[in-house]
Amino acid sequence: MGPALSLHPEAGCPEPPGLGDILRERGQREVFCGLTGIIWLHRKIQDAFFLVVGSRTCAHLLQSAAGVMIFAEPRFATAILEERDLAGMADAHDELDAIVDRLLLRRPDIKLLFLVGSCPSEVIKLDLGRAAQRLSNKHRPRVRILNYSGSGIETTFTQGEDACLAALVPEMPVAPPEENRALLIVGALPDIVEDQFRRLFDELGIGPVAFLPARSAEALPSLGPRTVYLLAQPFLADTARALDGRGATRLSAPFPLGAEGTTEWLRAAALAWGIPESRFDAVTAPGRERANRAIRRCEGALRNKRIFFFPDSQLEIPIARFLTRELGMIPVEIGTPYLHAEHLAPEIALLPSGTRISEGQDVDRQLERCRAEAPDLVVCGLGLANPLESEGLTTKWAIELVFSPIHGFEQAGDLAELFARPLARRERLRFAS
Ligand code: SF4
Repeated sequence: MGPALSLHPEAGCPEPPGLGDILRERGQREVFCGLTGIIWLHRKIQDAFFLVVGSRTCAHLLQSAAGVMIFAEPRFATAILEERDLAGMADAHDELDAIVDRLLLRRPDIKLLFLVGSCPSEVIKLDLGRAAQRLSNKHRPRVRILNYSGSGIETTFTQGEDACLAALVPEMPVAPPEENRALLIVGALPDIVEDQFRRLFDELGIGPVAFLPARSAEALPSLGPRTVYLLAQPFLADTARALDGRGATRLSAPFPLGAEGTTEWLRAAALAWGIPESRFDAVTAPGRERANRAIRRCEGALRNKRIFFFPDSQLEIPIARFLTRELGMIPVEIGTPYLHAEHLAPEIALLPSGTRISEGQDVDRQLERCRAEAPDLVVCGLGLANPLESEGLTTKWAIELVFSPIHGFEQAGDLAELFARPLARRERLRFAS
């Protein structure tokens, strides 16, 4: 039997405004682990290499998440812990040192090496922090060697990015005190989206602007008390804590998803920089109008459709806000693996009052609630999608939300389409049968 369901917030957790109790569940979960983040992070940081210290299962997960890719020069790999490592019969540190030495000898292009922990490395308590320190001493300044955990023990897949970025924060150079105020955008965004945001900030007169992660290991932005940052993703709690610890200030805003979210996210920076309203409107209006036009194309398919989110990507609340307010969908339940109440307060304030939000998971109970509600669309992980489809429910894979460019004005139409497509497919199947 699973643990008891708690309808009461845990003591000490600040409650977001305008909401009743959040349903908190602790039971069996169906989520991917943090290793998945390597798939988009290795594309973003172009001179980094991710060395997972794990098992054959970890290697298979990475390979299947990455699809069948043939690389001349791959930028991630798994150092497989064999049984004798797991049984403590071999010194895993010696073996790891030898693998890293060989890798760096063969690949002079690697400037940043992440040792990525996994469930097996955590279970045998392999201290990758110590390994990273030791190997750094040996290979610096040519290569920076850091570590973070991508394990699936008590984590969900987007926490891999959070852990990776949090590991980068101590490496960011100290901004000189005389340096002007700077804006830092935090969260891995596709280059095309980063360029669009950079242009908008330029036109608004906000800057200098830097991004974390940067495209190259050597371009890590500086950081100090004059750094103001905006989170681009809602799952970066540890990174935000590390930035706060270095004296940076977070701007509170909805996330840049959809026309409204993007406008409000940009507005937070514009207010901090004292940009006049008229200039803000002139710069953002064309993008907002394009976004609204693109979104309208999906409105007929989505309006008044009921949507149920299983907890997976941690993007559930901002996406539900977008689908509710800009496309007229009805959120039945918004499940999220973790609720970072402070970061999500501006989002939750925009949801219809009485929306059911659940944090954590007891998958059997949640499946029962989902079946009882019979929603038009279910957003969930890959493991639940096929069984639910076979029961006649229409599903959307949550993981696509991190593999597709969805942020900003220019991507708002594509974001809406991600949800309209499964409904259209279901319609076609109905006609065909
Ligand atoms: S880190 Fe854990 S959950 Fe992820 S693939 Fe490896 S063993 Fe599985």
